[in-house]
Amino acid sequence: MPLLTDARTGHLVPGCFAAFTNDCSGKLSNEHWLSEGILIGAGDGTVVRIGGPPWQPQGRVDELSPSSLGSKMLCERHDHALSPLGIAAACTFKTLDQFYLDQISREDISGSEFDLISGEQLERWLLKMIWGATAAFPTVPPLRANVDRKMLANYLFRDGELPADWGLYVKGLQTGRASNPDQSLSVGLENIDGELWGGSMLVGGVELCFSFGSFDRGRRCDRGPPTQCDISRPSRHRQLQGCSAQLGS
Ligand SMILES: [Zn+2]
Repeated sequence: MPLLTDARTGHLVPGCFAAFTNDCSGKLSNEHWLSEGILIGAGDGTVVRIGGPPWQPQGRVDELSPSSLGSKMLCERHDHALSPLGIAAACTFKTLDQFYLDQISREDISGSEFDLISGEQLERWLLKMIWGATAAFPTVPPLRANVDRKMLANYLFRDGELPADWGLYVKGLQTGRASNPDQSLSVGLENIDGELWGGSMLVGGVELCFSFGSFDRGRRCDRGPPTQCDISRPSRHRQLQGCSAQLGS
């Protein structure tokens, strides 16, 4: 179901990353490149520990309230249209995180569970997260230069399609991950030669990736350092690995 189905407004709001579609309305609103629902769920409900985002010196970790992590990067119309994606992503994070905590505990805390998640919403949310990061932070590399932004916007907001082999990939980490109940999630942006080729959210032993192009593990992380942001529960102090950990390794 497309997020926008009505006629285009014919207006643009400067500062909205979808302004080139001439489909804006309202003022610039305060939006989270990483959905506020995820930040609330990843923390203790009040603050979240975050290390590695583009505005921080490397190695520093801050405890911040999710509401302080927003940026003015979308008009009210586009922000409102994308809001269901944030809800879907927050539910996905909660399910995967709970499964992870169950796995590393000695007891099965939650018992048998079942959840059904829309892959289409999750795929669009990953695209919004990556695109939003480029709009929110001047230091984040731009999307691949030869990516057709009108095609991407038509896919994100309307009923357009992505090229074959683009979009959502899901990886299970077969090598496992060191058990750390404080760790909530890691968000990565795939930087190749100063352009973004994709991005990912890693929760527990599952990595959800969006790729601008066919997903090829061989191309990843060998031509530029990834940008990785680690988000953790504020209950205990932990030493962040910062940007030294590469995606998919
Ligand atoms: Zn707009």
